[in-house]
Amino acid sequence: MTDETGPSLAPALEMRGITKRYPGVVANDGINLQVRPGEIHALLGENGAGKTTLMNVLYGLATPDEGEILLDGKVVTISGPSDAIARGINMVHQHFMLVPVLTVAENILLGDETMANRIFLDRREAHRRIIELGRRFGFEIDPEAKVGSLSVGWQQRVEILKALYRNARILVLDEPTAVLTPQETDEIFGVLRRLAAEGHSIVFISHKLYEVLEIADRITVIRRGRVVGERLPSATDEDDLAALMVGREVQLTVDRGESHPAGVVLEVAGLEVRDDRGQPAVRGVDLEVRAGEIFGIAGVAGNGQDELVEAIVGLRKPAAGSVRLAGKDVTGHSPRMMNEDAVAYVPADRHRFGLILSFPLADNLVLTSYYRSPYARGIVRDPRAIQRDAVTSIERYDIRTPSATVRASTLSGGNQQKAVVAREFDRDLKLLVLDQPTRGLDVGSIEFIHHQVIAKRDAGTAVLLVSAELDEVLEMSDRIGVMFEGRIVAVVDGRTADKNAVGLLMATGGEERPPVPAATA
Ligand code: ATP
Repeated sequence: MTDETGPSLAPALEMRGITKRYPGVVANDGINLQVRPGEIHALLGENGAGKTTLMNVLYGLATPDEGEILLDGKVVTISGPSDAIARGINMVHQHFMLVPVLTVAENILLGDETMANRIFLDRREAHRRIIELGRRFGFEIDPEAKVGSLSVGWQQRVEILKALYRNARILVLDEPTAVLTPQETDEIFGVLRRLAAEGHSIVFISHKLYEVLEIADRITVIRRGRVVGERLPSATDEDDLAALMVGREVQLTVDRGESHPAGVVLEVAGLEVRDDRGQPAVRGVDLEVRAGEIFGIAGVAGNGQDELVEAIVGLRKPAAGSVRLAGKDVTGHSPRMMNEDAVAYVPADRHRFGLILSFPLADNLVLTSYYRSPYARGIVRDPRAIQRDAVTSIERYDIRTPSATVRASTLSGGNQQKAVVAREFDRDLKLLVLDQPTRGLDVGSIEFIHHQVIAKRDAGTAVLLVSAELDEVLEMSDRIGVMFEGRIVAVVDGRTADKNAVGLLMATGGEERPPVPAATA
């Protein structure tokens, strides 16, 4: 192979001329990808560029219309995920596929055909192998720990262990850091480097350019289904990668300008909220957000942020406390009542609350307003008005889709998110509640959404922004509340806040305490 970018080794994986068409779109258009043994190969591309489709082809979930796959130089046909796994290809999904009530060992052994009948017989041996594999890659894990009790960072390690246990040689990680803290990300990178050093090949999909530059040996960029460039991290930078991905220059930092906060719009007092298991998740939160202000909540995922916003927008009944909107008590109001009071909500989990995936995109764009004018008169709907506005939103928010009539499920993850944002932003608002608004979005879309949020702020909307991306909270917020174990432990000025100080508050709540080990062998 011609090679100017690194040591010459036969690729462990080669995808040649892969083309995959869906009705109205060419998701992959003659893609070539080569991944060498021991290489961490990043796959970059804007939302809908075709990354997931390419990996689905590799995993046997989608059949390519053209092209071939070679493993160690030999052409193979991959008939489905179990065939892919048998050939040493494994996926670590972003939405973890683990069963929370089962132990680490049970999860790892689950679905492993070679063990199916011997699961009880080989338990001791399995435990030994799990501990040994963990140690080899730099972490110790208790095979008896319940997966539900582990942090997301450790759950991800269980996913990786599961792949290693099945002798995976090629690992695909689809946005593995989206739900991790910076420290957990560093730890996972340590694991990936060891994997590569032992000869595993890794395909790393991410929208975070600085991470790609840090971890990848090589980077392939795709745009609209085609490879548009290959780069070595040493010969590129964030601006170059962003421009290559999006096809234009992208402003990577937010220009938030001056804010002019006015009267209090949202007033939360003594709020207590329980999680799905009935445990206290929010333990007495007081906060105020003014018109024309962005109040950001920084915190490690799982410290009560989701329950807090769900109680504010009416999706969860508070156990105690009150929520007031522009002076009116709205505690316990339904989501529809909140919506009619000009409150918009972009949820963290767009599949649970944001979209009805089996409905057409156009219907999803009016999910919170289909029953009102101009989309309905009395009980009579006006499909033409729905269609017309859908076309406008698709254009304005650059939602990549062949049409407004396709089901929402066929959109790429990032484009589903843009659809939710388009629907929620498209009217005058008193309060805008955003939970992880840019998760999974490419740099161009993040830039666009940030501009829209600032425009809403400048139009006098009160904005409550929850994000696990500390940089996003720091760049966007006028004031920042740090949430830890269900409480807001500090409120700081967003323009002068120090990243390390906020990070420390997120990790400890401001108290000196020894770090808690996630699991021990
Ligand atoms: P993201 O970063 O947003 O996850 P992606 O690069 O992974 O994006 P894909 O999910 O591969 O993008 O989508 C590529 C294109 O293929 C999109 O236009 C999408 O709408 C289309 N597509 C993907 N799966 C299907 C399907 N099952 N049916 C129809 N169209 C599909």
